[in-house]
Amino acid sequence: MKTFEDYQKAYLDYRKRDKAFSLAFYLLEWDSETIAPTGCFDVRSEYIGVLSQMRNENFLKEETQSAICFLASHLDKLDTNLQKEIKNIKKTLDKTNKMTQEELSLHSVLISKATQAWAKAKKEKNFSLFEPYLTKIVDYERLYCERVSTKDCNGYDVLLDEFEEGLNQTVCDEFFTTLQHNLVPEIKKLSTRKQKYSYAFNKQTFDCQTQKDYSIHLLNKMGFDFTRGLTLESEHPFTTGFECADVRITNHYYEDNFISSIFTALHEGGHGLFEQQMDKKLVGTFLTQISMSLHESQSRLYENCIGRDKDFWLQEYPTLQHFFPLQLKGVTVDEYFHFINQVTPSLIRTDADEVTYPIHILIRYELEKKLMNRTLEVKDLPKAWNEAYKRYLGVEPANDAEGVLQDIHWAGGSFGYFPTYALGSAYAASIYTQMQKELDLPKIYASGSLKEITNWLRQKVYQYGGSRNPRDLVEEITHKKFSVDDYLMYLKKKISIQ
Ligand SMILES: [Zn+2]
Repeated sequence: MKTFEDYQKAYLDYRKRDKAFSLAFYLLEWDSETIAPTGCFDVRSEYIGVLSQMRNENFLKEETQSAICFLASHLDKLDTNLQKEIKNIKKTLDKTNKMTQEELSLHSVLISKATQAWAKAKKEKNFSLFEPYLTKIVDYERLYCERVSTKDCNGYDVLLDEFEEGLNQTVCDEFFTTLQHNLVPEIKKLSTRKQKYSYAFNKQTFDCQTQKDYSIHLLNKMGFDFTRGLTLESEHPFTTGFECADVRITNHYYEDNFISSIFTALHEGGHGLFEQQMDKKLVGTFLTQISMSLHESQSRLYENCIGRDKDFWLQEYPTLQHFFPLQLKGVTVDEYFHFINQVTPSLIRTDADEVTYPIHILIRYELEKKLMNRTLEVKDLPKAWNEAYKRYLGVEPANDAEGVLQDIHWAGGSFGYFPTYALGSAYAASIYTQMQKELDLPKIYASGSLKEITNWLRQKVYQYGGSRNPRDLVEEITHKKFSVDDYLMYLKKKISIQ
């Protein structure tokens, strides 16, 4: 008969093998997104498929499943972190077992074809090329929700809960309705305002190598550890980490848009610090996987709360001018500050300013909810999308590429993901509000280094990696129940400086 130790060993062996697969995928993804030659993908995709299948088999084999089930019924014998890990993985296993092997493999084929169809449809600005694939994806998600539903978590809530435990439509409805009521009228008023400055400096050319040097300067200032991390270029910037010893971030540099690389460095740097500074005790466990909303809260805290703050630039702007002496000659810190804090309704989510950003998310949340609750069908999605943009932001896409086809998420089968972006911003605002009470930020900015901020964040957030529920952690840091209020107050300040 197997003992507790046998089951525990079987689980730990499974976990180690899974981590090895993670490492392979981590390096493959990094290579694909940064330096791989474009001709390599046809050959490699077949082997990536084989690796994915092996990883799946490792998870679904009898030995692993029985170890997970045994440990899940003996949680009291496990330490807190292993308890949390086993609870999470048991939940995933139960859900996976609600779908047949055939359904799961057909779904992964569908996703890979849909992603290609989406790219083509976006290029040709034609939703109808993507529509049959998205219809099948939505059908699959509806079926999945039906099968996986429980008394406490059903319908679209199943998908929301996957990206943040406990998140549901009641929480999201209240969150987004408050934002909508408070922000939409203000955004409409702003459309008639006169600009304070010409921002002519932004029309000049900014050397890419100098931008690169400046972004490294910012990362060093934040305390990013280049002995355990590096940075390269990619079209769509991202951060990826394998345990805390290897954390890689990317940036992009455009001669005619120097601002982009500055805020990308701060954003990805925020993600990178979180990865690098989690407790080393979490290495080797699955608790190194941080929830999206909490991860995004840390990138946005550095990018927006600190990176768009007047006090920060009062100290940092002379250095930026030193990097770009010709372009920024005679440009005041006030003009630069207003430039980086402009609020303008626009069509593309990833280019949106801080105030209109949550409205882009609200639109996606409402549409997903209707799709999953069967009150909207995929064929009517472009029309519904365009109407929502007109209603909330007063702008209308000229074609599907700048409308319903702009994001890759739905092609990848990610429903329930978008709300975590807005929640991340809200968590950032709450944590930042508390940080302002505990730290003398202007004094820290004057010191020339941001490490005191990074240390504070390590103590309050980073060290926990993925071991804590985001909302619980935010409530512990701020000593109050989480609400949208801090975020709203923060955004209203942004509106007041327009
Ligand atoms: Zn991010």
